[in-house]
Amino acid sequence: MTDRRRFPAVLAAISALAVSLAAVTADAASGAPVAQFQPFKIGSYSAVALKDGGIEVPVDGKSFVVGQPNEAVGAVLKVGGAPADHFEFSIQPLLVHAGVHVLLFDTGAGGFFGDIAGKLPDSMMAAGEKPASVTDIFISHAHGDHIGGLVASTGALAFPNATIHMSAPELKFLSGLKEDEAKNFGIQQVSALVRAIKPQVVPFEPGADLLPGIVKAVELKGHTPGHSGYRIGSGTDSVLVFGDAMHSYLVSVRKPSWQVAFDGDRELGATTRVALVKSSAASGQRLYSEHFPFPGIGKIVKGKDGASWQPESLH
Ligand SMILES: [Zn+2]
Repeated sequence: MTDRRRFPAVLAAISALAVSLAAVTADAASGAPVAQFQPFKIGSYSAVALKDGGIEVPVDGKSFVVGQPNEAVGAVLKVGGAPADHFEFSIQPLLVHAGVHVLLFDTGAGGFFGDIAGKLPDSMMAAGEKPASVTDIFISHAHGDHIGGLVASTGALAFPNATIHMSAPELKFLSGLKEDEAKNFGIQQVSALVRAIKPQVVPFEPGADLLPGIVKAVELKGHTPGHSGYRIGSGTDSVLVFGDAMHSYLVSVRKPSWQVAFDGDRELGATTRVALVKSSAASGQRLYSEHFPFPGIGKIVKGKDGASWQPESLH
């Protein structure tokens, strides 16, 4: 249970996010994130990135990157053209139409993070998508910015007709959280949440073929006990949704071995990230990130200075 004992430190960082962060995509007047969507294709499937919100995290040696001098972290951000003193993390679930299936990958923060997030319903409406039409939801992991959108403010299921796919170890982790502990992961009223979603949850074994030919789970260890990525489609057009195996399009890609506070098992998280960057750069695998700059679709390329994120040109 060493992973478990490490969580409080990790979670302090996440709960700090929930209370103190500013919106990345902000409405100038209200400070609230703006509904936004970006369609793209995955082979014959139509996909749409859906903005839920965004968070800022300071470069302070404890909130995200740990064990590295702030100057070194800031330098990586600066070289990438970003401010050196903080990270900006978008939040963007992904919706995919695959034949009769309407797939949703994570659900954003719902009401858990206040005004900085929870725009998924608005973004869906703007994109012409209906919550009641979603047939399958694939949860990468049970942190507030990924599962908060499963329930509406009334506590009712936000996607009433959807099967919720979550790995068995992740469901066990979520179901075992006490209220106070859950808040550290950005989750409010965890027992009510678990009660609401349980009838819809179908747990799977890590790496399972969930909708054969359409969605396969990809085990990406370290962030949480049952953290899972998902491969959508097949062949060169396929997209790997990697959950929170990486958070920063600069630091996570360029310095994947650096440990981060968000990972329940920091060492394993870094090992997974190093392998993911290496294999993605070698294969040219299309990737979808829920926290890289909107809309989060692209790939990792290897240049003379190492690996870097290349967003897909969608125009
Ligand atoms: Zn996240």
